[in-house]
Amino acid sequence: MSDDVDRAPVAPIVWTFCGTSALHLTDGQYSLMIDPFFSRVSIARAATRKIAPDLNLIERGLHEAGIGKVDAVFVSHAHHDHVMDAPLTAWKYECSLYGSPSTVNVGVGSPLHADSMHAIAPGAVVPVGTFSVRVLAAKHGHPNLAPGEIKAAFPTRPVWGLRYRDGGAFSFVVEHNSATTLIHPGANYIAGALDGTTVDTLFLGIAGSWARCKTFRRRLWRSVVEAAAPRVLIPVHWDDFGAPLSRPLVLRRWSRGSFESSARFLEQECGVAGITLHWPRPFTATMMSNGNP
Ligand SMILES: [Zn+2]
Repeated sequence: MSDDVDRAPVAPIVWTFCGTSALHLTDGQYSLMIDPFFSRVSIARAATRKIAPDLNLIERGLHEAGIGKVDAVFVSHAHHDHVMDAPLTAWKYECSLYGSPSTVNVGVGSPLHADSMHAIAPGAVVPVGTFSVRVLAAKHGHPNLAPGEIKAAFPTRPVWGLRYRDGGAFSFVVEHNSATTLIHPGANYIAGALDGTTVDTLFLGIAGSWARCKTFRRRLWRSVVEAAAPRVLIPVHWDDFGAPLSRPLVLRRWSRGSFESSARFLEQECGVAGITLHWPRPFTATMMSNGNP
């Protein structure tokens, strides 16, 4: 490492949450996005129609979030609410797309050049300037309406929503000289997957599974939150991703009860564990906190 890098001041990470598990992380010099999703196609529509990303909505969302630069786009799994807008986002910023082989097959149906699409697997470490992204195996939460792989390249025209099969799921550990961050979009766990990984901040997906049963929730808490031991926990993937981003985020109508129970659980457990629970303000650039008031 050169003296210049040694002497370089440590720039904090600034993050922006854009609904679902769409996140932008930057230190002002380099930046990355996880699961960008601005087209906001609902499950009902995806289950019954042919769907396609909407470049106007993507550009509007990125503009509203103040995202001027992205150096790499990562996709946690290939359901439409995670992957659909990722290839066009990478294309817009002329950067690389990283995801499972299913994600790469979705990318083939976009204008993104094949050289910019990279299949990743658990254990991979991807350097993005001052960041380093480690890929962890993860499990999709329940329910999973489109399990399996995307085995063929997507066409450039709209496709049936259920063709967006999950293709396997990842979590991402983002290392940076100011902080270590775990992005865990799926509300599920693999026992032992986080052994040896402790982080400062955890972005935790709380869709679906959290309400499944108290035992499951307790195991998930132990395997993910206790294992990663964050100082700050930021819940994501709690909003109705079929609702347009032109209005404030809302909860899914049928999941309000489970959301309230999840929120109570998180408040209680974070309080006991001394973890700062931070509900994110969408489309608001926020400095990564170390958990101190
Ligand atoms: Zn999914």
